[in-house]
Amino acid sequence: MATTLPLVYLDHAATTPVRAEVFEAMAPFYGPKFGNPSSTHRWGREARAALDTARERLARCLGAHPDEVCFTSCGTESDNMSVIGTWRALHAQGRPAVVTTPIEHKAVLAAAHQVAKEGGEERLLEVDRNGVVTDASFDALVRDDVAVCSVMWVNNETGVVQNVPALAARAKARGVVFHTDGVQAFGKVVVDAQTQPFDLLAISGHKIGAPKGIGALYIRRGTPFEPLLHGGSQDRGRRPGTENVAYAVGLATAAELAVAEREEHWTRLERMRDELEAMILAQVPDVVVHSRGADRAPHVLSVSVPGTDSESLLMALDLQGIACSGGSACQSGSVTPSHVLTAMGVDPALAGAAIRMSLGMLTREDDVARVGELFPRLVAKARALATA
Ligand code: PLP
Repeated sequence: MATTLPLVYLDHAATTPVRAEVFEAMAPFYGPKFGNPSSTHRWGREARAALDTARERLARCLGAHPDEVCFTSCGTESDNMSVIGTWRALHAQGRPAVVTTPIEHKAVLAAAHQVAKEGGEERLLEVDRNGVVTDASFDALVRDDVAVCSVMWVNNETGVVQNVPALAARAKARGVVFHTDGVQAFGKVVVDAQTQPFDLLAISGHKIGAPKGIGALYIRRGTPFEPLLHGGSQDRGRRPGTENVAYAVGLATAAELAVAEREEHWTRLERMRDELEAMILAQVPDVVVHSRGADRAPHVLSVSVPGTDSESLLMALDLQGIACSGGSACQSGSVTPSHVLTAMGVDPALAGAAIRMSLGMLTREDDVARVGELFPRLVAKARALATA
């Protein structure tokens, strides 16, 4: 990219670069260690040993038994397996419903729609203005006719953190399987299957420095589950298909680093997020910071700037070499305000003006200072564009 601008990547919630340690750990599996883990000869045994070790390492990061860890192709697949796989296993036993929230990633929402298409019932919990699930709706909807309740741990648009351990305990008291989309949570909050009662947890490699195209699903022993894919007996039949050994090793390596660095990472990101937020609010006081009144993971800062639209502001930022993302989906030219902000009751014009800045391993104090300094000028430009 020919540019003299200092580039600032503030889109870590979308994806992260592959860490050098991860790349290095994966390399031998593109060379001499190319075997198929199902083969019985020495190449196969070598690949099997690497896969088993990767599973054990990832299990340790999750407080899980190795047989509770299933490698998948991504967070989306892990979420689909959880919602659809559990419902298929349980719906005929008097549990026709699935419960989730209106602020989930589409990987969960679309899986719940699929359940409805297959004859199930889809129920959505209510969230408050900060995007936190309300106790009243949880008590009303999570009943003994529910197969699975899925509540995301950290929201990808606002960073809001749900009290997953407490919600999981309440669901399980009603005999309901509890799934959480932990894609944005892992490496930020403490995740420990030994002390936290979730049954299913989805993670994704590319949010923590592993490549795109690898994820994992934690499945607590004894959780009713029907596989979505059919074929071989890999991964105990839960996820047939020849395993991606290199990526499994990469994910285990990234997960170990994420767990080891978690607290320090949180503190560093929180300091920079707070600094950025304070600079923005000081200079553009009418900016709205979403979910500000709730617990937030420190890597996501979601703001709406009245009098702009997200596209104009993102373009102005991009022209300065600053990469952020919108809080809204652009479908065939028309901008639909984010379903997350809409569910939180944010006014449509404000929801359409949302941008997400997400910090991570590439973020430095200088980046925050640069964005904070340029922000008022870029807002003025975006406002002029919006009214032109
Ligand atoms: N869930 C959340 C909260 C996410 O942020 C994402 C990705 O953005 C996903 C699920 C999907 O993960 P993947 O890209 O690995 O399919």
